Amino acid sequence: MTNLVFATNNSHKLLEARAKISSFNIVSLSEIGFHEDIEEYETTLEGNARIKAEYIYNKFGVDCFADDTGLEVEALNGAPGVYTSRYAGTNPTFIDNMNKLLSDMNGFENRKARFRTAIHLIINGEHHSFEGIVNGTITTELIGEQGFGYDPIFIPEGYSETFAQLPLSVKNTISHRGRALDKLCDFLKSR
Ligand code: IMP
Repeated sequence: MTNLVFATNNSHKLLEARAKISSFNIVSLSEIGFHEDIEEYETTLEGNARIKAEYIYNKFGVDCFADDTGLEVEALNGAPGVYTSRYAGTNPTFIDNMNKLLSDMNGFENRKARFRTAIHLIINGEHHSFEGIVNGTITTELIGEQGFGYDPIFIPEGYSETFAQLPLSVKNTISHRGRALDKLCDFLKSR
């Protein structure tokens, strides 16, 4: 089977991608001997996904893709957006980030938000991008134990539980990253 490098070492993301994409052998960064962090200096999710994919493509010359995700809160004009992972400062915990967001939204009635994932694929030297979105609302407190990141404060549209309460199989079907991966998968199948 042909290799396709996913520019990540996140084991959850690798599992998710491998479960969806069966026509390629999805290879992690550590499996190609790359253990550094790629600096994400762009100001958009698309830009950061492209930087990571291009970095790996330029260094190793392999077909690859990279992703970047942001939580976009309507009442905060799209923040934290591209700064989602470092919203509460340098090396924050997930709890720090969620507490900052809840405090920034204190008193806001509009709790609408969305997770958005951008994927950048480089295959045979061609560039392609894919987007996945899940709309939802931000709670006023942390609810649920599962998942990671902002899962305990995000309720996806059409559900009454947070991502941290829903079974992983449900989350992976409706999530931003799941939807972006589905589009990538459809594209790969159609080639
Ligand atoms: P990344 O680009 O996938 O590393 O995501 C950036 C940040 O978005 C992460 O550090 C998390 O805080 C948040 N995030 C990404 N995906 C999810 C998710 O599925 N649930 C909750 N938070 C997420």
